[in-house]
This record gives sequence, C-alpha cells and structure tokens, in this order.
Amino acid sequence: MELRNLPGVDRILTDKRVAGAAKSCPHDLLVSVIREQLELERASILKGKSGASLDDIVKNVLERLEAVLKPSLRRVVNASGVILHTNLGRAPLSRDALAAVDSVSRGYANLEIDMESGNRGSRHVHVESLLCRLTGAEAAIVVNNNAGAVLLGLTALARRKKVIVSRGQAVEIGGGFRIPDVMRQSGAKLIEVGTTNCTYARDFEQAIDEGVIALMRVHSSNFRLVGFTSEVTLEELVEIAKRHNLMVFDDLGSGSLLDTTVFGLAPEPMVQQSIKAGATLTFFSGDKLLGGPQAGIIVGEKQYIDKLKKHPLARAMRIDKTRLAGLAATLFHYLKGEAALKIPVWQMIAAPLKEIEKRAGTWAKVLGEEAKVVNGETMIGGGSLPDGSLPTKLVAIGGGSKKVQNISRTLRLREVPLIGRIEKDSLILDPRTVLPEEDEIVIKALSEIVG
Ligand SMILES: *Cc1c(COP(=O)(O)O)cnc(C)c1O
Repeated sequence: MELRNLPGVDRILTDKRVAGAAKSCPHDLLVSVIREQLELERASILKGKSGASLDDIVKNVLERLEAVLKPSLRRVVNASGVILHTNLGRAPLSRDALAAVDSVSRGYANLEIDMESGNRGSRHVHVESLLCRLTGAEAAIVVNNNAGAVLLGLTALARRKKVIVSRGQAVEIGGGFRIPDVMRQSGAKLIEVGTTNCTYARDFEQAIDEGVIALMRVHSSNFRLVGFTSEVTLEELVEIAKRHNLMVFDDLGSGSLLDTTVFGLAPEPMVQQSIKAGATLTFFSGDKLLGGPQAGIIVGEKQYIDKLKKHPLARAMRIDKTRLAGLAATLFHYLKGEAALKIPVWQMIAAPLKEIEKRAGTWAKVLGEEAKVVNGETMIGGGSLPDGSLPTKLVAIGGGSKKVQNISRTLRLREVPLIGRIEKDSLILDPRTVLPEEDEIVIKALSEIVG
C-alpha cells in the first residue's frame, strides 16, 4: 500500500532544498541520485518497513548527492606511529619532490625527447644516471612498483628457467605478493632449497643443474626468524653464481641508501652494498625507505637492464612523468647529502625524542585529564626492518574501551581525518609520524573532541 505514497522524481525535484542543489549540479546526476534513493526507499517498504516522510527522503537525497560529489581519496594525518604505512600511502613526499611533480604536470615535459637533437629520447634517462651514481650500478630502470619490477626481471630473464631461492625466503609480503606466485606468473620455475629456518651454501650448490639461470635473495620484510637459523649471505650467493655462470637477483623490498644504524635502527640492507657484493640485478621500492613516490627500481648490469628496457612488460608497467619527477627530486636529496634533512620519512626517523616529547605534551594538554604522555615505540613499517622501531613519546587517551572506540571513530570521520591506533583500551597518537606543520590540525581535532 505504502508504495503508492512514495513520491515521484518530479515531486522531489520541486522541493526547495533540492532545487537549490540543482543549481550547482547537472540535472542528470541529480535525477540519478534521486532514483537511487527512491529505489532504496522502495526496497525498504517491500521489506515491510514503514515509508519515510518526504522530508526524510529529501534529506537522504541531499546526503547521497554530497557523498557522490566528495572525492573518496583524501589526505589524512597519520598519528598511527607507523612511518611507512601502506594503507595510508607510504612515504610522504619532500617539498622539492612535490614541486617537481607540480612543475611537470601543469604543462608538458621533456619526458621522452632528447633536447640536444630534438629527437625521441628515453624516459629512463631522467633517473638512470642519478641511480647509477648513488648505488654504483652500471644501469637502472624504473617501473610502476617493486612487485612489477621483480615480475619484469623474472619474466624477461628467467622464463622457462629455474631460479633457486632459500625456503626461508619464499615469503608473502602482503597485498598478495608471494614469491612462489610471482615466479609462476613470470614463467620461471622456483626451486626452493634448505629448510624453513636453515639454508646453507651447499643447498644452493646441490640444486644447480642445466635448467638453473639465477640464484635469488628475497628480503624477509615483514617477519623475522629467531633462534636456530642460518641464511646464505649475498656474497656467498655471488661466489657460487660466478662459478656456475649464473645471475644473482636481490629483492631488497625497501632497501635503503642511508645506513639505518646511524639512526639507532637495526641494519637494513643497502642498495650500494648489494651492487658492491656483485648482485646482477637489485630490486627495491620507491616509496619505502627511499621516501619517494611509488615506483619499482632495478639497478645492476647494463646488458640485463637493456633487455628489461626492451621487454613488452616494461611498457605495460612504465612509470608516468609525475612520479618520475618526484623520484628524481628525491634522489637529488641523496646526491646532495641532505636526505635526512629534507625527506619526510628520514626527518621522522631522525626527529629528536625531546622534540617529540614537547609536541606530545602540547597535544595532551588540549585533552586535560583524559590524556597522558607515555613512552612508546614508532614502527618503521613498509616491510622494512621487521622489528625496527624507534623510541617515541605517545599521547594515550583513556576512558574505557567504548569511549576510546568512539573518539577514534570521530577523529577518523573528520574532514581531515586523524588516524591513531588502539592499544589496550587506549587511543594512541604518535607525533613522530605527524608532519610538524600538521600539529595545528591535530590540536584542532583534539579540541573538537573535548568540546
Ligand atoms: C614491499 C616488497 C615488495 C613489493 O614492493 P612494492 O613497491 O610494494 O610493489 C617486493 N618484495 C619485497 C621483499 C618487499 O618487501
């Protein structure tokens, strides 16, 4: 019965508020939003619920329209205490990187043109010499991301051949990236050697036969084996590979161009070391510890990089001008020796505890009794340094599980969301992962929940 009382599209269009919205929104869009809402109302009536009033329907239409017109991907403030948070977009870009992205995206760019001759050029030149200078490699290629880089390397060089990997390194990184699956996808055959916890040089030696083309090392990224363990070093792999005329692939995951131990962190394999040790190809991400935009970077021997450049997959995975510009600007920070001062990820890692404590104190003061400053750990994240953490000062907001869940949700649903983490019935906010210029937003958000 109620279905008959449901207003039509035309009736809703005559509502003053809807007519107001119609001024700043195409008619077709408004009509489709009204239809969607009426469809929901119809379904709810058919389920036996009583029909909404015209006023409620209009309100729902306007809310739906607002949601449709609001971009889903937005900036957030990361107070989670994880520096390289994949779900929050990994590395924030430096000012120079942002400016470079902006400058090449506004108009055209010399992406693939040789300025001297005016002829067609290669997009790789914009970062290749930088990468070679920084890592000591002969050649480099950059693609969409590191998962793509590894797939490209294996497909172009190891298809229908065998690649030997230690069983302890046949890992899943997350987001569906599993070494055995990537191998299968590339057409290479994975030969796992050793045991889960122990692999020795002789395990590799014994598995080598005609079909083998490469030995591969994979950074275990997001987990760590402890206790009775043994892995073969890259140097040993290179030595074995040389004797058998094989390639060595080194998937570093994050990799680092800076020595993490200088910052009080566990050692993370450095790209320079990998090249120096003699890896044929070394793979790493642009947006992990490098601190740049999403990218997959391959450095190594020119004869093989040249093959990758010519492979059809390289075209399918190519990087665009905006990220190439951001990556080049990020690499320049390393070249100028200013990475720790200019790249946000490294600024966060290098931030003095005293400074963090001061900021935490300012944040906590806004909340009064509700919050206290406590000692804690910032995680590096991004699959680098699996148990890598730095001492930090946290703001802990208590008040019971339910209240904390509510505050967390309120902060998350703000226009500029503030993301913390919940730990033992407290909402935890870590100033180390918040850019200093975002403190104002945090303070405003916290004063909102007090008010
Ligand atoms: C993170 C990671 C990848 C994937 O890199 P993306 O840039 O996220 O595609 C591959 N291998 C290892 C070892 C990693 O840690």
